[in-house]
Amino acid sequence: MVKNNKNSQMGLLKTIYQLIGKDKYKFILAIALMVIGTFCLAYAPKVAGKITDEFSKFATTNVFDGNVIVTLLISLLALYVVGNLLKMVTDRMMIFISSNVTLKLRDELHEKMHNVPINYIDSTPSGDIIARLTNDMSSVESMISSTLATLFVQFIIIILVIIMMLILNVELSIIYLILIPLSFGILKFISSRTKVQYKKQQKLVGKLNGVIGDNFNNHLIVKSYNMEEKSLDKFDKINNQIFESYFKSRFYSGFIIPINTILTNLGYIGICVFGGYFIISGSLTIGTFLAFILYGQMLTEPLTTIGNNLNILQSGFSSLENILDVLNVEEEKDFENSENLLENDVKGEIEFKNVKFGYSEDKILMDDVNFIAKSGTTNAIVGPSGAGKTTIVNLLMRFYDINDGTIYLDGKNIYKIKKDDFRKSFGMVLQDSWVFEGTIAENIGYGMENPTIEDIHKAAEMVGCDKFINLLPDGYDTVISEENTNLSVGEKQLLVLARTIISDPKILILDEATSQMDTRTELLVTKAMEEMMKGRTTFIIAHRLFTIKNADKIIFMKNGDIKEVGNHKELLELNGLYAEMYKSGSIKSE
Ligand code: ADP
Repeated sequence: MVKNNKNSQMGLLKTIYQLIGKDKYKFILAIALMVIGTFCLAYAPKVAGKITDEFSKFATTNVFDGNVIVTLLISLLALYVVGNLLKMVTDRMMIFISSNVTLKLRDELHEKMHNVPINYIDSTPSGDIIARLTNDMSSVESMISSTLATLFVQFIIIILVIIMMLILNVELSIIYLILIPLSFGILKFISSRTKVQYKKQQKLVGKLNGVIGDNFNNHLIVKSYNMEEKSLDKFDKINNQIFESYFKSRFYSGFIIPINTILTNLGYIGICVFGGYFIISGSLTIGTFLAFILYGQMLTEPLTTIGNNLNILQSGFSSLENILDVLNVEEEKDFENSENLLENDVKGEIEFKNVKFGYSEDKILMDDVNFIAKSGTTNAIVGPSGAGKTTIVNLLMRFYDINDGTIYLDGKNIYKIKKDDFRKSFGMVLQDSWVFEGTIAENIGYGMENPTIEDIHKAAEMVGCDKFINLLPDGYDTVISEENTNLSVGEKQLLVLARTIISDPKILILDEATSQMDTRTELLVTKAMEEMMKGRTTFIIAHRLFTIKNADKIIFMKNGDIKEVGNHKELLELNGLYAEMYKSGSIKSE
């Protein structure tokens, strides 16, 4: 897991170094080879200068030392060949290393999404999460794979060229010692403007993803309300903001190349004027002068490349910051000294004792919730919407931590049990019957580690969905998906029931599991549920009378608190809130 180093660009570079991990030695080797290669290329102009000096010596003194010139020519060729070969090899090494970094980062981010607490998922717009996994990841990828290595090489070139210049002639080097910091100063100024825009763009892309998701997932609702125009407006507004921010960032970064070109041209003028003067005064040879011109040219490329790549680097850095924000979210974890729980040992008695909870500290929803659900009993949680029924389930499943009090499973504090073990005791069916793209067998088997085909058939028979599956041309191998409309709502929910029951959970949670169905389908699903409920502790959130009436215990909630507890008959006799709700017809009788 990468550490939080996101406070500065140095910190981000450190993070990237951590991510390089096992490729560290390859990375160091690549850098060493890069330095050697760059040194070869940086040394070449000095040799070229020497060759020129040998020729000019010949012109003035008529002395020609063929051996020296041939040796120098061979050295020059060798320097260029080795320098360029090493460049080719190190480029490839860097691509390999950076691809590994992004692979690792993507894996970590994906794994993280499975380990963050539910309240993080609940409170983060899905568009943002998708943007982290897609846009931000590809921007980090292009930063590491092309930009970072390139920039690194360019910096080495600049340093080596300056060293070579200083060795050749200190006075002429001063020209570049002034120009290069000036160029970096301008780059820094421009990049401070563009950075803000890149951050803005990434936020807006997340927002845009959210709008697209909302519109396409709910396109029927959008159409039925004639809201196309409104949602197009919303889209256009964000799209225009992205355009504006994109334009501004490109506008500023567009200054980088012309400014650098002007600066390096100024450098040439300086070299010509002062170099000419030094040649006349005899303190500079023509060869050294030529070498300086070549070095000047060698500086143009890195300065322009750094300018060109700076925007990719910046957008990569701010994307990496976004990704680190997610990677640094505290994960769901077990409390200290949590114990294992063997599935077979679970009887399924649940007790809430003095439970206090609020989704935020300052807004307490339930103050003092107490109830016991005996093992193997059916417990209906009833109450008006917003009463806190789903919250009870959220607390029971440990999706949220309680503020005070204790929840027990078979007399054990559930916070002292390992979360994964604890959740294995539960089977949960929600209102939306979720199936994923895969075969029917895979969809049913999802609820169990390594299920056999017999397990799958048994679960399907138990909930009674084997009949319709066998009528399908490909039976259990039929490929289904969330968008696949060939299955009815009831059939999908039956598959979900089979998926829930396959792992034989001791406790069942059925959250409005039949609320979207017509009566006939509901009867079918309810029959399957009744079969499943036998011998298991069950919590049902339901609005229909026949589910509630048969429950061993009805827990009636309002405004986050439990107001009444008893069976249907007892609560009617009590003539309190439940009876009132029943008489008002809020509980559907069919
Ligand atoms: P019910 O299931 O009875 O309709 P809930 O348990 O869903 O009620 O909600 C109880 C209260 O808690 C409501 O006021 C609701 O707005 C609030 N609430 C539910 N989920 C969240 C959440 N994730 N974050 C903040 N408040 C929530």
